[in-house]
Amino acid sequence: MLVLFEKAPAKINLSLDVLSKRDDGYHNVEMIMTTIDLSDRIEFHELKKDRITISLESRFVPSDERNLAYKAAALFKERYGIKAGVHIKIEKNIPVSAGLGGGSSDAAAVLRGLNRLWSMNLSLKELACLGAELGTDVPFCVYGGTGIATGRGENVELLKSAPACWVVLAKPNIGVSSGGVFQQIKLHEIEHPNTEKLMKALGENDFSMICTHLGNALESITMALHPEVRHIKETMMQAGATGTLMSGSGPTVYGLAMQESKAQRIYNGMRGFCEEVFLVRLLG
Ligand code: ATP
Repeated sequence: MLVLFEKAPAKINLSLDVLSKRDDGYHNVEMIMTTIDLSDRIEFHELKKDRITISLESRFVPSDERNLAYKAAALFKERYGIKAGVHIKIEKNIPVSAGLGGGSSDAAAVLRGLNRLWSMNLSLKELACLGAELGTDVPFCVYGGTGIATGRGENVELLKSAPACWVVLAKPNIGVSSGGVFQQIKLHEIEHPNTEKLMKALGENDFSMICTHLGNALESITMALHPEVRHIKETMMQAGATGTLMSGSGPTVYGLAMQESKAQRIYNGMRGFCEEVFLVRLLG
Protein backbone atom coordinates (compact mmCIF):
# COMPACT_ATOMS: atom_id res chain seq x y z
CA MET A 1 0.00 0.00 0.00
CA LEU A 2 1.37 3.39 -1.01
CA VAL A 3 1.95 5.92 1.81
CA LEU A 4 2.98 9.55 1.24
CA PHE A 5 3.56 12.55 3.51
CA GLU A 6 3.08 16.27 3.05
CA LYS A 7 4.00 19.12 5.37
CA ALA A 8 1.27 21.73 5.83
CA PRO A 9 2.96 24.89 7.17
CA ALA A 10 1.07 27.71 8.88
CA LYS A 11 1.12 31.19 7.35
CA ILE A 12 1.27 34.64 8.84
CA ASN A 13 -0.03 37.79 7.20
CA LEU A 14 2.61 40.47 6.75
CA SER A 15 -0.31 42.52 5.44
CA LEU A 16 -4.04 42.11 5.04
CA ASP A 17 -6.11 44.71 3.27
CA VAL A 18 -9.80 44.66 2.41
CA LEU A 19 -10.44 46.68 -0.74
CA SER A 20 -14.11 46.36 -1.61
CA LYS A 21 -17.23 44.26 -1.27
CA ARG A 22 -18.08 42.05 -4.21
CA ASP A 23 -21.45 41.27 -5.73
CA ASP A 24 -21.08 37.64 -4.56
CA GLY A 25 -20.96 38.83 -0.92
CA TYR A 26 -17.23 38.19 -0.46
CA HIS A 27 -14.58 40.91 -0.22
CA ASN A 28 -11.72 41.76 -2.55
CA VAL A 29 -8.59 41.44 -0.46
CA GLU A 30 -4.88 42.10 -0.86
CA MET A 31 -2.71 40.04 1.45
CA ILE A 32 1.01 39.42 1.71
CA MET A 33 1.60 36.11 3.42
CA THR A 34 4.60 34.00 4.29
CA THR A 35 4.90 30.47 5.61
CA ILE A 36 6.44 29.66 8.99
CA ASP A 37 8.11 26.63 10.48
CA LEU A 38 5.04 25.40 12.37
CA SER A 39 3.36 22.63 10.41
CA ASP A 40 0.69 20.00 10.46
CA ARG A 41 1.82 16.67 9.08
CA ILE A 42 -0.44 14.91 6.61
CA GLU A 43 -0.12 11.23 5.77
CA PHE A 44 -1.87 9.65 2.78
CA HIS A 45 -2.70 5.92 2.68
CA GLU A 46 -4.06 4.48 -0.53
CA LEU A 47 -7.35 2.58 0.04
CA LYS A 48 -8.78 -0.25 -2.06
CA LYS A 49 -12.33 1.06 -1.58
CA ASP A 50 -13.51 4.24 -3.29
CA ARG A 51 -13.88 6.43 -0.21
CA ILE A 52 -12.22 9.18 1.85
CA THR A 53 -11.53 8.72 5.54
CA ILE A 54 -9.85 11.16 7.91
CA SER A 55 -8.25 10.58 11.28
CA LEU A 56 -6.93 13.22 13.64
CA GLU A 57 -6.78 13.88 17.35
CA SER A 58 -8.25 17.29 18.04
CA ARG A 59 -11.04 18.55 20.25
CA PHE A 60 -11.68 21.42 17.86
CA VAL A 61 -11.58 19.91 14.39
CA PRO A 62 -14.12 17.42 12.99
CA SER A 63 -12.81 14.27 11.28
CA ASP A 64 -15.76 13.92 8.89
CA GLU A 65 -16.81 15.61 5.65
CA ARG A 66 -16.73 19.01 7.42
CA ASN A 67 -12.92 18.80 7.59
CA LEU A 68 -11.27 20.99 4.94
CA ALA A 69 -8.89 18.14 4.15
CA TYR A 70 -11.90 15.93 3.37
CA LYS A 71 -13.46 18.68 1.24
CA ALA A 72 -10.18 19.06 -0.68
CA ALA A 73 -9.97 15.31 -1.35
CA ALA A 74 -13.64 15.11 -2.40
CA LEU A 75 -13.20 18.04 -4.78
CA PHE A 76 -10.03 16.54 -6.26
CA LYS A 77 -11.69 13.14 -6.82
CA GLU A 78 -14.83 14.64 -8.28
CA ARG A 79 -13.01 17.07 -10.60
CA TYR A 80 -10.69 14.42 -12.07
CA GLY A 81 -13.14 11.49 -11.93
CA ILE A 82 -10.91 9.41 -9.64
CA LYS A 83 -12.43 6.19 -8.40
CA ALA A 84 -9.70 5.27 -5.89
CA GLY A 85 -9.90 5.87 -2.12
CA VAL A 86 -7.60 7.47 0.43
CA HIS A 87 -7.15 7.58 4.18
CA ILE A 88 -5.78 10.93 5.37
CA LYS A 89 -4.13 11.08 8.77
CA ILE A 90 -3.62 14.60 10.13
CA GLU A 91 -1.18 15.40 12.91
CA LYS A 92 -2.43 18.80 14.04
CA ASN A 93 0.23 21.15 15.40
CA ILE A 94 -1.12 24.49 14.14
CA PRO A 95 -3.56 26.10 16.61
CA VAL A 96 -7.16 26.07 15.31
CA SER A 97 -9.18 29.22 14.49
CA ALA A 98 -6.04 31.22 15.15
CA GLY A 99 -5.54 33.24 11.95
CA LEU A 100 -2.65 30.96 10.95
CA GLY A 101 -4.45 29.26 8.06
CA GLY A 102 -4.23 25.75 9.52
CA GLY A 103 -7.30 24.37 7.76
CA SER A 104 -6.35 26.05 4.49
CA SER A 105 -2.84 24.65 4.64
CA ASP A 106 -4.18 21.14 5.34
CA ALA A 107 -6.48 21.46 2.31
CA ALA A 108 -3.60 22.69 0.14
CA ALA A 109 -1.36 19.83 1.33
CA VAL A 110 -4.12 17.36 0.45
CA LEU A 111 -4.27 18.73 -3.11
CA ARG A 112 -0.48 18.42 -3.46
CA GLY A 113 -0.44 14.97 -1.83
CA LEU A 114 -3.24 13.49 -3.95
CA ASN A 115 -1.61 14.92 -7.06
CA ARG A 116 1.41 12.76 -6.20
CA LEU A 117 -0.51 9.74 -4.87
CA TRP A 118 -2.56 9.42 -8.03
CA SER A 119 0.24 10.61 -10.40
CA MET A 120 -1.86 13.38 -11.90
CA ASN A 121 1.05 15.68 -12.79
CA LEU A 122 -1.01 18.81 -12.25
CA SER A 123 0.89 22.07 -11.89
CA LEU A 124 0.80 24.10 -8.67
CA LYS A 125 -1.18 26.68 -10.64
CA GLU A 126 -3.87 24.11 -11.46
CA LEU A 127 -3.96 22.96 -7.83
CA ALA A 128 -4.20 26.57 -6.62
CA CYS A 129 -7.11 27.13 -9.00
CA LEU A 130 -8.90 24.14 -7.48
CA GLY A 131 -7.97 25.38 -4.00
CA ALA A 132 -9.72 28.69 -4.65
CA GLU A 133 -13.01 26.76 -4.48
CA LEU A 134 -12.17 25.71 -0.91
CA GLY A 135 -11.18 29.00 0.74
CA THR A 136 -9.45 32.36 0.48
CA ASP A 137 -6.08 31.23 1.86
CA VAL A 138 -5.89 27.86 0.07
CA PRO A 139 -4.37 29.07 -3.26
CA PHE A 140 -1.47 30.77 -1.45
CA CYS A 141 -0.97 27.70 0.78
CA VAL A 142 -0.64 25.50 -2.32
CA TYR A 143 2.54 27.42 -3.20
CA GLY A 144 3.85 28.47 0.23
CA GLY A 145 6.88 30.77 0.47
CA THR A 146 6.11 34.48 0.36
CA GLY A 147 3.37 35.79 -1.89
CA ILE A 148 0.65 38.34 -2.47
CA ALA A 149 -2.92 37.14 -2.90
CA THR A 150 -5.61 39.33 -4.46
CA GLY A 151 -9.22 39.04 -5.61
CA ARG A 152 -10.90 36.58 -3.26
CA GLY A 153 -7.42 35.16 -2.68
CA GLU A 154 -7.32 33.23 -5.96
CA ASN A 155 -4.69 35.39 -7.71
CA VAL A 156 -1.33 34.58 -6.18
CA GLU A 157 1.95 36.16 -7.18
CA LEU A 158 5.05 34.80 -5.51
CA LEU A 159 7.46 37.36 -4.06
CA LYS A 160 11.09 37.36 -3.02
CA SER A 161 11.42 35.48 0.29
CA ALA A 162 11.05 37.45 3.47
CA PRO A 163 14.34 37.69 5.44
CA ALA A 164 15.04 34.62 7.57
CA CYS A 165 14.04 36.09 10.91
CA TRP A 166 12.52 34.64 14.08
CA VAL A 167 8.81 34.72 14.81
CA VAL A 168 7.19 34.58 18.23
CA LEU A 169 3.50 33.63 18.05
CA ALA A 170 1.14 34.24 20.94
CA LYS A 171 -2.43 33.00 20.83
CA PRO A 172 -4.87 33.88 23.59
CA ASN A 173 -7.33 31.20 24.60
CA ILE A 174 -10.10 32.31 22.25
CA GLY A 175 -11.07 31.26 18.73
CA VAL A 176 -12.05 33.90 16.20
CA SER A 177 -14.42 33.22 13.33
CA SER A 178 -13.12 34.84 10.15
CA GLY A 179 -16.68 35.12 8.82
CA GLY A 180 -17.77 36.99 11.95
CA VAL A 181 -14.92 39.51 11.64
CA PHE A 182 -15.51 40.06 7.91
CA GLN A 183 -19.20 40.73 8.64
CA GLN A 184 -18.21 43.64 10.89
CA ILE A 185 -16.12 45.43 8.28
CA LYS A 186 -17.11 49.02 7.59
CA LEU A 187 -15.12 49.80 4.47
CA HIS A 188 -15.03 53.58 5.05
CA GLU A 189 -13.65 53.10 8.58
CA ILE A 190 -10.88 50.55 8.22
CA GLU A 191 -7.19 51.43 8.24
CA HIS A 192 -5.46 50.25 5.09
CA PRO A 193 -1.91 48.95 5.26
CA ASN A 194 0.60 50.38 2.78
CA THR A 195 1.01 47.22 0.70
CA GLU A 196 3.16 48.96 -1.91
CA LYS A 197 5.76 50.05 0.67
CA LEU A 198 5.77 46.58 2.20
CA MET A 199 6.34 45.04 -1.25
CA LYS A 200 9.24 47.45 -1.79
CA ALA A 201 10.75 46.59 1.59
CA LEU A 202 10.47 42.87 0.76
CA GLY A 203 12.07 43.45 -2.63
CA GLU A 204 14.99 45.23 -0.93
CA ASN A 205 15.18 42.63 1.86
CA ASP A 206 14.95 45.52 4.33
CA PHE A 207 13.92 43.93 7.64
CA SER A 208 13.38 47.17 9.51
CA MET A 209 11.18 48.63 6.71
CA ILE A 210 9.21 45.36 6.54
CA CYS A 211 8.52 45.69 10.28
CA THR A 212 7.47 49.33 9.86
CA HIS A 213 4.93 48.48 7.16
CA LEU A 214 3.28 45.39 8.65
CA GLY A 215 -0.46 46.10 8.63
CA ASN A 216 -3.80 44.35 8.99
CA ALA A 217 -7.14 46.01 8.26
CA LEU A 218 -8.93 43.46 10.46
CA GLU A 219 -6.80 44.09 13.53
CA SER A 220 -8.90 46.89 15.03
CA ILE A 221 -12.12 44.90 14.49
CA THR A 222 -10.83 41.82 16.32
CA MET A 223 -9.26 44.01 19.01
CA ALA A 224 -12.61 45.70 19.65
CA LEU A 225 -14.20 42.26 20.09
CA HIS A 226 -11.29 40.85 22.13
CA PRO A 227 -9.27 43.54 23.97
CA GLU A 228 -6.70 40.92 25.07
CA VAL A 229 -5.39 40.91 21.49
CA ARG A 230 -4.33 44.56 21.83
CA HIS A 231 -2.79 43.80 25.20
CA ILE A 232 -0.73 40.96 23.73
CA LYS A 233 0.47 43.19 20.90
CA GLU A 234 1.56 45.92 23.31
CA THR A 235 3.33 43.41 25.55
CA MET A 236 5.12 41.90 22.55
CA MET A 237 6.36 45.37 21.50
CA GLN A 238 7.53 46.12 25.05
CA ALA A 239 9.32 42.77 25.11
CA GLY A 240 11.44 44.03 22.21
CA ALA A 241 9.87 42.75 18.97
CA THR A 242 10.99 44.84 15.98
CA GLY A 243 7.52 44.51 14.42
CA THR A 244 4.24 42.96 15.61
CA LEU A 245 0.91 42.24 13.95
CA MET A 246 -2.22 40.18 14.36
CA SER A 247 -2.32 37.45 11.70
CA GLY A 248 -5.44 36.92 9.55
CA SER A 249 -8.62 37.59 11.49
CA GLY A 250 -6.75 36.71 14.67
CA PRO A 251 -6.47 36.22 17.51
CA THR A 252 -2.80 35.17 17.13
CA VAL A 253 -0.34 38.05 17.37
CA TYR A 254 3.21 37.60 16.15
CA GLY A 255 6.43 39.47 16.79
CA LEU A 256 9.49 39.50 14.52
CA ALA A 257 13.13 39.62 15.61
CA MET A 258 16.35 39.12 13.68
CA GLN A 259 18.49 37.75 16.53
CA GLU A 260 17.69 34.44 18.17
CA SER A 261 18.62 35.74 21.66
CA LYS A 262 16.13 38.59 21.32
CA ALA A 263 13.42 36.24 20.02
CA GLN A 264 14.06 33.90 22.94
CA ARG A 265 13.63 36.81 25.39
CA ILE A 266 10.33 37.79 23.77
CA TYR A 267 9.21 34.15 23.85
CA ASN A 268 10.05 33.87 27.55
CA GLY A 269 8.28 37.16 28.22
CA MET A 270 5.09 36.02 26.47
CA ARG A 271 4.90 32.63 28.20
CA GLY A 272 2.91 32.82 31.36
CA PHE A 273 1.06 35.66 29.71
CA CYS A 274 -0.53 33.59 27.02
CA GLU A 275 -1.56 29.94 26.88
CA GLU A 276 -0.06 29.09 23.50
CA VAL A 277 3.29 30.64 22.59
CA PHE A 278 5.61 29.41 19.83
CA LEU A 279 9.09 30.38 18.71
CA VAL A 280 9.62 29.50 15.04
CA ARG A 281 11.44 30.68 11.94
CA LEU A 282 10.06 32.14 8.75
CA LEU A 283 10.12 29.59 5.95
CA GLY A 284 9.22 32.05 3.20
P1 ATP B 1 -9.33 31.10 8.61
O1 ATP B 1 -8.73 32.47 8.79
O2 ATP B 1 -9.32 30.63 7.18
O3 ATP B 1 -10.63 30.90 9.35
P2 ATP B 1 -7.86 30.02 10.76
O4 ATP B 1 -6.42 29.72 10.79
O5 ATP B 1 -8.30 31.20 11.56
O6 ATP B 1 -8.26 30.16 9.26
P3 ATP B 1 -8.50 27.24 10.98
O7 ATP B 1 -7.54 26.68 11.97
O8 ATP B 1 -8.25 26.99 9.56
O9 ATP B 1 -8.68 28.79 11.24
O10 ATP B 1 -9.97 26.71 11.41
C1 ATP B 1 -11.14 27.37 11.07
C2 ATP B 1 -12.34 26.43 11.22
O11 ATP B 1 -12.22 25.39 10.25
C3 ATP B 1 -12.49 25.75 12.56
O12 ATP B 1 -13.83 25.92 12.96
C4 ATP B 1 -12.23 24.29 12.30
O13 ATP B 1 -13.04 23.43 13.07
C5 ATP B 1 -12.55 24.12 10.82
N1 ATP B 1 -11.70 23.11 10.15
C6 ATP B 1 -12.09 22.25 9.23
N2 ATP B 1 -11.07 21.48 8.81
C7 ATP B 1 -9.98 21.87 9.49
C8 ATP B 1 -8.63 21.46 9.52
N3 ATP B 1 -8.17 20.45 8.76
N4 ATP B 1 -7.78 22.09 10.35
C9 ATP B 1 -8.23 23.13 11.11
N5 ATP B 1 -9.50 23.54 11.14
C10 ATP B 1 -10.38 22.93 10.34
